[in-house]
Amino acid sequence: MRAVMFAALLMWGDGHQKTHLTIDDVPNRPVWIHPVIPIHGRKAHQEGYWMSPPSILLCHEGPVTISRIERAVRYWTRLGYTFGTVSQALPGNPDCIANKASYGTITIDVPSQTFQFGTHLGSTKAWRFTATDEIFKARIEIIPAWGSSERILEHEIGHALGWRDMNSVGHIMHGVWTAGGYNSTGVKNGTE
Ligand SMILES: [Zn+2]
Repeated sequence: MRAVMFAALLMWGDGHQKTHLTIDDVPNRPVWIHPVIPIHGRKAHQEGYWMSPPSILLCHEGPVTISRIERAVRYWTRLGYTFGTVSQALPGNPDCIANKASYGTITIDVPSQTFQFGTHLGSTKAWRFTATDEIFKARIEIIPAWGSSERILEHEIGHALGWRDMNSVGHIMHGVWTAGGYNSTGVKNGTE
């Protein structure tokens, strides 16, 4: 059922021009918020952080490869972040099936039914304790056809680390994929 719907919507998405695709939206509460949250200025802005290094769990039918994840992890490791293990879930993992995320992990999966196909390539939901701003789990969804594309996974992991979309051209957290880049100004771990 999900696979059928996904194929149909993917074709619809491909019919649109690939410019000006918003990479995703990112909620600041444990609820997926639609429509797209406006991009936040030119300065990197972080809401929430991990107290202990998150592991990364790739769901069984996940949209990326383990080596693609390891490459994205290296991007953020160079910026001072630490991660736990990177592993792939077994078929039937309950959090993957329920479109959720496992505690202490950044869970990566294919889009669920709330995914905004046509305007989004990826989407990240981060759960945090609002009293302490501690992020305790995150779920990244990426359209499989875009899984190996440049910067999308890095960008989504940035959201999982608490960083919001912004609009400095060439920056990793630019909300529009075609205007983004690998610039990491302001998102180093511990940056004020
Ligand atoms: Zn984004």
